[in-house]
Amino acid sequence: MKIYDLFKCDGEINMTEEFPFEISPMFEGERVRKDDMYVELAGPKSKGFELVRAVPPDESINPVEDGKFTLIGPDISEMEEGGRYPLAMIYRISGELVEPDIESIVERRNHDFQNYLQGVMHLNQRYDIWLRVSKEAVNKGLDSFEHIARATMMLFKSELPFIEDIEAIYITDMGEVEKELEDAFKVYEARDERTRDLHDEDVDVFYGCTLCQSFAPTNVCVITPDRVSLCGAINWFDGRAAAKVDPEGPQFAIEKGEAIDDFSGEYTGVNERAKSLSSGEYDRIKLHSFFEYPHTSCGCFEVVGFYIPEVDGIGWIDRDYSGNAPNGLPFSTMAGQTGGGKQVVGFLGIGINYFRSPKFIQADGGWDRVVWMPKHLKDKVYDSIPEEIADKVATEEDASDIQSLEAFLKGQDHPITERWVEESEEEAEITPQAQEKVESESISMPQTGGFPSSGMIQPSQMQIPQSSGSGVKITLKNAKISIDRLIIKKKE
Ligand code: SF4
Repeated sequence: MKIYDLFKCDGEINMTEEFPFEISPMFEGERVRKDDMYVELAGPKSKGFELVRAVPPDESINPVEDGKFTLIGPDISEMEEGGRYPLAMIYRISGELVEPDIESIVERRNHDFQNYLQGVMHLNQRYDIWLRVSKEAVNKGLDSFEHIARATMMLFKSELPFIEDIEAIYITDMGEVEKELEDAFKVYEARDERTRDLHDEDVDVFYGCTLCQSFAPTNVCVITPDRVSLCGAINWFDGRAAAKVDPEGPQFAIEKGEAIDDFSGEYTGVNERAKSLSSGEYDRIKLHSFFEYPHTSCGCFEVVGFYIPEVDGIGWIDRDYSGNAPNGLPFSTMAGQTGGGKQVVGFLGIGINYFRSPKFIQADGGWDRVVWMPKHLKDKVYDSIPEEIADKVATEEDASDIQSLEAFLKGQDHPITERWVEESEEEAEITPQAQEKVESESISMPQTGGFPSSGMIQPSQMQIPQSSGSGVKITLKNAKISIDRLIIKKKE
């Protein structure tokens, strides 16, 4: 059934066609909750991906057929209400200015454009996509993927005019999705591989992206050869291609300027842009630092890093891990703490490919500071972990809480344990008078600024031993304290 003749023969968009939903950026923040959803597509409990492929304009064997939509598998009208299905969305694009370099940038916009459709929620990117279609939208006539695909293609062509021809292939058959996913992984890997031999010191220009400022207004996304974007979808080459083909678009060049500190990744040009992009909220960013002036975290990050003060190490948790980290918290809770476009000391959002960077949080010890990550994530980046540390990083199979983590790290002689020795030596040198001073300052002067070795305090990190005498003793180590109200009551 041909529902829309969206594109006129001269390539102009025929905006007179009607869709069974409204299309506007104002629907970007719309959430489709479980109770309101008709179907869920891809996501953590199924499979799926989105992929854009550039096709040369002179392709003769399989040219792009502008406006064509193909569906392999059941359509929305054939799906059970409340069901969960796989979904792959493949777009083939063509045009004089369309090159393979531009694929990632176009692909990332699928997220924006599908969120413009009322009743459709799109999350994440690449092989992590997760969509929901609301019951209300289906009741209003959204009974076919063809509506979604055609509206998305229309937006691609109107927002990215360098796309001259586009066609969409959607797949909802699990076997076909799995087959195509293997090929998609090869494409993602090939894109990521391109930056391996290029480093921050080799270039004068980095790239910025403001796409996520729609929901994280102070987010300053800086993409360098050694630091892929937090969403993992845009590397330095992608940023360069996007800035070239669409200079007024959301990706742009950032002149690196002078190096203030190469090692932590602080540059004058980045600081200047950080200030203007965050409307003055931030004026310093250290690209390879976890604790001091870290990169902002929007919410699209693939992985969250979190400081574990009890072991003075850093753990990492990704979207696909549904359990709790050793600090007792799942990804969703820590992601909520980390996102919003802020510099959150103690938490950091990153793209998975940043684990492969030779500059990975090098200002704070790099891999020597990493103490825990989910097994499937560790397996994914295992080849990039220095050999001497690889087996010393715990997973959920080795440690499920702080005590077992501490025991594992000790047993493995993890380099982090050297820091424990240094710290206990420092403690041993503190005289009783100095200790008293430290404790009184700890209580009366909560720290608020950017400082190394600190994390948002969690209940498990706070020790309030019962004193045998009057009063209490509070010991807070390496903690950033944020307290709205503190009530101390005498025990009845
Ligand atoms: S995470 Fe950064 S690079 Fe990715 S879409 Fe958002 S702003 Fe752009």
